[in-house]
Amino acid sequence: MKVGVIGLGAMGEHLARNLYLASYLHSVWNRTESKAARVAQELGVIHADSAAALAKSVDVILTCVSQDEDLDEVIAACTPALSAGKIIVDTSTVSPVTARRHAEQLAEKDVVFLDAPVSGGVEGAKNRSLAVMVGGNEEALVRVRPVLEAVAGHVEYIGPSGSGQACKMVNQVMVAGINQAVTEALAFGSALKLPMDKVMAVLGQGAAANWFLKRRGATMLAGTFNSGFKIKLHYKDLAICKSVAAQLGAHLTIVEMTLVHYKRLIDAGHGDEEISALYRLKKQLFEDPASY
Ligand code: NAP
Repeated sequence: MKVGVIGLGAMGEHLARNLYLASYLHSVWNRTESKAARVAQELGVIHADSAAALAKSVDVILTCVSQDEDLDEVIAACTPALSAGKIIVDTSTVSPVTARRHAEQLAEKDVVFLDAPVSGGVEGAKNRSLAVMVGGNEEALVRVRPVLEAVAGHVEYIGPSGSGQACKMVNQVMVAGINQAVTEALAFGSALKLPMDKVMAVLGQGAAANWFLKRRGATMLAGTFNSGFKIKLHYKDLAICKSVAAQLGAHLTIVEMTLVHYKRLIDAGHGDEEISALYRLKKQLFEDPASY
């Protein structure tokens, strides 16, 4: 099975590298050509001239782009080159509505579109420990499951098109709450002048232990927010959660609060920082409460 990867960002490049290690990677394409040229040259795979050229030459197209509009652009570019039997596996986080729309439109060409968002961060993408939640045609998932298992530690079929993205929304609400809790708690501990290395060592073994504390605790205390999941991307996810919850007549309090906080950080120029940069605001609770 020949696989092509479209979108070689923080996540996509690792996905491509792991597909290469499993001998699936045939070609890559990225909007900014230099990234695809570098990866293709290093791995000895094809640097496709265009998204359409890639789509034409592979059996499975794995997409990993930022947001709904970007996925729309990529699918529009690929569509003329798609023939019956091809499978698109979209690992981007977009709205369930967007996923369902692409699945329905591509089904008219007998092309399968699976929504397959991932969780586990850049580290998970690098070390193949991602969790993948899949919506769409279950038979197609049976065919591409080995491809997904080459990049992930857990692949779960959720249900019809859009349900992988619906599951990802649930994940993103939890991530917001965990980010709120960990950043606020560590800012509190710092304000108490506790030895934070010891605090993290002991709390990391108790009931409050979690993925985010383990991987982002020390870096946020050091004031570095360089790599990982960007604030502007989580903002986009939470905006989707907010709008879907509104359709159910609900306000999700953690989502609403986190959107306000992220907007302030984005407006202050921190949108490309990792989401633990929320710690910047939490420090203000103790240093300058009026500005929080
Ligand atoms: P990223 O580093 O910002 O990379 C985004 C990728 O999308 C780049 O390759 C970019 O191309 C491409 N792209 C954006 N707009 C495009 C367009 N209009 N046409 C074609 N390509 C376009 O983001 P990321 O962190 O890899 O995240 C990618 C997706 O995975 C997002 O949906 C994100 O929410 C999701 N995700 C991220 C994480 C994480 O920890 N980072 C975890 C789980 C899920 P250029 O190089 O040209 O900009």
